[in-house]
Amino acid sequence: MTLIDGKATAASIRAELKVRSEEFEKKYGRKIGLAVVLVGQDPASQVYVRNKIKGCEEAGIRSFAHYLPETSSQEEVEELVSALAEDENVHGILVQLPLPRGLNADKILAKIPAAKDVDGFCAENIGKLALRERGTVACTPLGVMELLKRYHIPTAGKNAVVVGRSNIVGRPMALLLINADATVTVCHSRTENLKEECLRADILVAAIGKAKFITADMVKEGAVVIDVGMDRDENGKLCGDVDFQSVKDKASYLTPVPGGVGPMTIAMLLSNTCEAAERSMEKSL
Ligand code: NAP
Repeated sequence: MTLIDGKATAASIRAELKVRSEEFEKKYGRKIGLAVVLVGQDPASQVYVRNKIKGCEEAGIRSFAHYLPETSSQEEVEELVSALAEDENVHGILVQLPLPRGLNADKILAKIPAAKDVDGFCAENIGKLALRERGTVACTPLGVMELLKRYHIPTAGKNAVVVGRSNIVGRPMALLLINADATVTVCHSRTENLKEECLRADILVAAIGKAKFITADMVKEGAVVIDVGMDRDENGKLCGDVDFQSVKDKASYLTPVPGGVGPMTIAMLLSNTCEAAERSMEKSL
């Protein structure tokens, strides 16, 4: 079994992005900029935001961090996002989710223009993905595709099974795999015979949110297994949706948790920001 090293791959991508962002600066006389908005003090969100800002530094991207108090009103957060939407030094806007209770996340996210939606969450970007048009793709599934590409794992004609159909992972993952010529099955909590469906997978992507849910008896010999999950096991230790210990003897390729898909998500956020910046300049030429 080959372990897919997301940490090392993400580090290479950040180094490549540094070159790209320096070229941007040379060409256009300004830095690529990412604005990150954090409302409240959720500890996990604080860690994510810190990691994103650190990633920006490594990739030569200027970060604008906006920390708003838990008590911020809907209007205050919307006003900030609208101002960032107008700011020409900001090429990407990220609002860290979840937002504190009482705030309407959909309305706040709707203030981010599609061109600066570096998370790829908005209807326009999801529509573009579905129609195979150039847009911004959600970072986590995009990171999975990048891992497949960099490990030279073919997708065309392969049976890909995605377990999970969320808007931010499962759904865009399925669309990306369809666009990459795989034959795609999407499974979810109402799927009958989940085990049989999984056993047909040449490429199995688990995005369920249940610790060690995918066990060896659900995996075909030699399958490529991608674990998107970020869960806690019975001892509170970080683990994935895949039972790594049993699946490692059956899979041909496997992503670990941590160190697999997770680091790729931030790398793709930075990549999406570079792309948004380049696209904005192409448009203004
Ligand atoms: P989500 O919104 O809760 O979606 C989970 C999906 O799994 C749903 O489609 C659900 O089906 C399906 N599911 C739940 N129980 C199932 C079962 N028993 N059998 C089959 N399908 C089942 O979660 P998410 O946001 O997509 O995240 C999934 C996992 O990825 C989580 O562990 C999350 O922490 C992790 N994640 C990691 C990253 C990263 O950077 N590595 C990024 C995002 C998310 P229904 O639609 O029928 O409810």
